[in-house]
Amino acid sequence: MRIDLSGRVALVTGSTRGIGRAIAETLVGAGARIAIVGRDGARAEEVAAALGGASGREAVPFACDVTDLAAVAALIERVESTLGSLDILVNNAGVTRDNILPRLKDADWEAVIDANLRGAFATTRAAVRGMMKRRWGRIINISSIVGLVGNKGQSNYAASKAGLIGFTKSVAKEMASRNVLANVVAPGLIETDMTAAMTAEAREAMHQQIPLGRLGAPADVAHAVTFLASDAASYITGQVLVVDGGMVM
Ligand code: NDP
Repeated sequence: MRIDLSGRVALVTGSTRGIGRAIAETLVGAGARIAIVGRDGARAEEVAAALGGASGREAVPFACDVTDLAAVAALIERVESTLGSLDILVNNAGVTRDNILPRLKDADWEAVIDANLRGAFATTRAAVRGMMKRRWGRIINISSIVGLVGNKGQSNYAASKAGLIGFTKSVAKEMASRNVLANVVAPGLIETDMTAAMTAEAREAMHQQIPLGRLGAPADVAHAVTFLASDAASYITGQVLVVDGGMVM
């Protein structure tokens, strides 16, 4: 099976580093034209230049904060007028603001729900209109195993990631008749800036819980996303694909 996304336009939120960047790189490698999106416009430009330059295909930077609903609506319009009709949307932008519940501030709750859940709602609502008309679309939302099993100190993050799963299943049911498919990828522990702050002890403790015996690489997640974006996954919708080395079974 060869995955060919040539002719497809994809947008990956939070593709300026980490998992999102790896997803963008893999989609470009499969032939897609890609919108690189993050709050840091200069970083988006660097990544787009690196990916576009390496592949000879189009990678275009867009600065956008997904918590800004008006900016998100404008983003989808800008992407479509620059790259063409949007076929693949990957909602990957995400943040953590960890604390145990008694100490969790209102702002910590709101920042995480706004970026991780409300952001995905806003991009998806804006993107599906065109996908429905064209009778082809892929929505892939990056959740987390924390959304499945919870985690101490992450009630806000777990709520946002569990919310994404319910959101995705509803979108999958609403959009199936128009051939717009919606799925979730739920990573376990992946080596990125988000996990770099862990102590050596915490890292070792996590290792013990991973049957495959290693932390994941961003590419492990990117490969799952690219499969779901492809025609090879045309009979899969409303599913949660866990990419965690076997931590949650
Ligand atoms: P990073 O912190 O390395 O990268 C986050 C990305 O999201 C950056 O590109 C950042 O760009 C962007 N971003 C953050 N907030 C916003 C915003 N409001 N608007 C637009 N872009 C934003 O995270 P990871 O790569 O580790 O994680 C990516 C996704 O995977 C997240 O949703 C995370 O929850 C999920 N995940 C990660 C796991 C891990 O172990 N790393 C495990 C399970 C899930 P900028 O700063 O320029 O805005």
